[in-house]
Amino acid sequence: MSLDENIQRITSRIENACKKSNRTPEDIKIIAVTKYVSVEQIEEVFASGFNNIGENRVQNALEKYQTLHDKGTWHFIGQLQSKKVKSIIGKFDYIHSLDRLSLVEEIDKRAETLDIKVNCFIQVNVSGEETKAGISKDKLFAFAKKVSEYDSIIVKGLMTIAPNIQDEKQIRPIFKELRQLRDQINEQEIFQYQLTELSMGMSNDFDIAIEEGATYIRIGTLLFK
Ligand SMILES: *Cc1c(COP(=O)(O)O)cnc(C)c1O
Repeated sequence: MSLDENIQRITSRIENACKKSNRTPEDIKIIAVTKYVSVEQIEEVFASGFNNIGENRVQNALEKYQTLHDKGTWHFIGQLQSKKVKSIIGKFDYIHSLDRLSLVEEIDKRAETLDIKVNCFIQVNVSGEETKAGISKDKLFAFAKKVSEYDSIIVKGLMTIAPNIQDEKQIRPIFKELRQLRDQINEQEIFQYQLTELSMGMSNDFDIAIEEGATYIRIGTLLFK
């Protein structure tokens, strides 16, 4: 399967999901998750009109970033160790995995040194699976309040990873709940601005995520198979 064919399939599924849920495809941004592929393949991704690139491992990401940094918008979507923050700060445009205060403090410290602001998503472990990263639902609001005290961190929205299963009946409530949590944070005016984004949906489940309000979907396997 060629990249262009894969993109066509994904695009038409996005259109379908948008139709079902009364949304417009322009509101959905695709992050091409390039952790599986080479610099050359990422070049192809850019050539096909993609702008958003997602990587989940610092070392791997940096090697690619070094060659390609003048292109695209870079999203760090993996778990992030505090000691690695200094390697990616100022390079990645978005960090999707804010999930603990020590990480927030480290990002804030580094951002202040560079005099920049960092776009972040708070990652929520909605499903409650023990193996999943992210802050638990019951700690989310207190955490968000803390995060809002850090001027250099701009929270764009929430991120989650659904269980890797096929059963739509189990996946959909996860996405619905992330959206509700985001809306509640906005209603409580925890931040001085509204959180507009929801980073949710991967190759396995992005249609459902779109129907439930995703604004960023993160697609790897389906693009490169
Ligand atoms: C790998 C990865 C993706 C992409 O997953 P696919 O199933 O290959 O589309 C999305 N989000 C995160 C956080 C990932 O690590």
